[in-house]
Amino acid sequence: MNHNLFESFARRMTERKEHDFIVTPEGRNYTYGEALEVTAQLAGALIELGVKPGDRVAVQVDKSPEAILLYLACLQMGGVYLPLNTGYTAGEIGYFLGNAEPTLFVCQPDALEVAREVARETACPNVETLGTDSTGSLMVRARESAACNGVADRARNDLAAILYTSGTTGRSKGAMLTHHNLESNSRTLAEVWRFTEQDRLIHALPIFHTHGLFVACNVILMAGASMLFLPRFDVDTVIEAFREGTTLMGVPTFYTRLLQDDRLSPELTSNMRLFTSGSAPLTAETHQEFYRRTGHAILERYGMTETNMNTSNPYDGERIAGTVGLPLPGVEIRITDPDTHTPLPRGEIGMLEVRGPNVFRGYWRMPEKTREELLDDGFFVTGDLALQDEKEYIHIVGRDKDLVISGGFNVYPKEVEQVIDEMDGVLESAVIGVPHPDFGEGVTAVVVPETGASLDEAGVLDALKGRLAKYKQPKRVFFVESLPRNTMGKVQKNQLRETYRVIYQDA
Ligand code: AMP
Repeated sequence: MNHNLFESFARRMTERKEHDFIVTPEGRNYTYGEALEVTAQLAGALIELGVKPGDRVAVQVDKSPEAILLYLACLQMGGVYLPLNTGYTAGEIGYFLGNAEPTLFVCQPDALEVAREVARETACPNVETLGTDSTGSLMVRARESAACNGVADRARNDLAAILYTSGTTGRSKGAMLTHHNLESNSRTLAEVWRFTEQDRLIHALPIFHTHGLFVACNVILMAGASMLFLPRFDVDTVIEAFREGTTLMGVPTFYTRLLQDDRLSPELTSNMRLFTSGSAPLTAETHQEFYRRTGHAILERYGMTETNMNTSNPYDGERIAGTVGLPLPGVEIRITDPDTHTPLPRGEIGMLEVRGPNVFRGYWRMPEKTREELLDDGFFVTGDLALQDEKEYIHIVGRDKDLVISGGFNVYPKEVEQVIDEMDGVLESAVIGVPHPDFGEGVTAVVVPETGASLDEAGVLDALKGRLAKYKQPKRVFFVESLPRNTMGKVQKNQLRETYRVIYQDA
């Protein structure tokens, strides 16, 4: 049996030939039938360029329908798709090409010269371009190539994609994802989130990351549904899209930005059946406020590049604000002592470990890293600290590396952030540990005030007294206009730690 993920997609695409797959505001639309044709031509072009099953195809291009067809083409002919963040510089691309040794690098037309140079230095044999309006040398080749008719034979554990992790500490690692990883997870998600052919997803995420690429596109393909492809998140465009969309997959910042708009109402979102959130924590306040304004309870889920999605709040049951829900069917979660990997009693905070068909095969060419994080019994050590409550819902309390150890006590930033966020005049906050001569690390709060609010350090510190144990109370509070975030809306705590690194030096 052929386990190529594309087999499942092609079956669905063939059944849905006459129906929309991708539509764009400019009308650059593809039915499933058209998508199948162009995908086969692109797959033909890849074969002509010498890409063999198992070869990597690195892609750094702006979002477009054709970029998704290139991903599908790569699957069809057995290549390993390797999307790269469009923000990476030439130097960073050099690392990825050197590490992954792709047979082909596809870049944006205006980046060709630099890309050629990087490819030459890293001995990458082919460079092609792909523009956002169906232009570029790869599209020209595709039109001239003999379409690929079949689907390459792939085993369950053969690689479908490599996604480099964002690498906030040390070098990025290439997470090796198999056909089975992607297939099992997208089937599960389409089912538990009740996707049907009638759905139209408002797609405003980037497509170089697991969320916008696999969670969004694979689920749509599994369901034979359609998506409105937007180049980026823009409040006006998304509000307009609520008329014809049925669902939105978002990162928390989508929701905080929508909440700032007066037009948000139950009527505006009446065609929508599901809002999901992930990639970063959605605060309970945002969840509750969105419910108050629209009548929709955002469904929060949790996953990562290495594991696809692990947990989700239920479609029908209670969607509990501030939690990431229950383990997905087929996915096992345990909360362990980080040193021994022994499961902890229910309710205690520990390391979240996960096992299931969704968990990746390891890090590309990093056997030691893989051994550290992928245990012999198949559990993957996520690096996220969490607890499971009496209803079995998972609460993520933060990344292991963001844990603050002050005077020998563990301080979970989220707990402190929640208390600060509840204060009048606070929009949001980030709590970090900064080197401190007495305490090892000093708990430090970085606060974004609401517009017009007047907050000061002494006031915030005073308000926290009695609300948090002494060792959890920040030693200093700083005010900023906004928190540094990456494209997925994750607060870049490493940047904050760097900014405030020396504040306790003379303490
Ligand atoms: P990435 O590999 O870029 O998708 O990042 C994965 C990380 O994002 C996880 O390990 C978590 O730390 C974080 N994350 C993803 N979803 C959530 C969520 N719903 N709540 C809190 N953190 C999340």
